[in-house]
Amino acid sequence: MDCIFCKIISGEIPSSKVYEDGDVCAFRDLNPQMPTHILVVPKLHIESAADITPDNSRCVAAVFEAVPVIAAAEGLRNGFRIITNCGPDACQSVRHLHFHLLGGGQMSESMK
Ligand code: 5GP
Ligand code: ZN
Repeated sequence: MDCIFCKIISGEIPSSKVYEDGDVCAFRDLNPQMPTHILVVPKLHIESAADITPDNSRCVAAVFEAVPVIAAAEGLRNGFRIITNCGPDACQSVRHLHFHLLGGGQMSESMK
């Protein structure tokens, strides 16, 4: 499968990994939009949030269990934001479900 995040997860493409367990991989975004910008990704290839089902949602729980661990390791004591873009209206560019973990500074109230 020609999926850049599957290749990062397998190690075929290099990345700056900050966390890994059996279900989840997290690595620094190539184009950071905040001082901390990490992509938290289920190892299972799911195309987007529109494809989460009762059969695969366990890996989403695993992602959100990893988030506080990663946030603490990154020192995000003052808070953080999690975003997932789904489909063209939201400008999803990589079609492997991922959660942007943003922090390290004040963000705006706008989310669009
Ligand atoms: P999306 O636009 O799909 O929500 O987010 C995709 C993110 O993946 C973007 O923020 C982009 O900078 C990041 N990205 C794309 N290709 C790579 C890559 O090869 N390595 C890493 N670390 N990040 C990538
Ligand atoms: Zn993939």
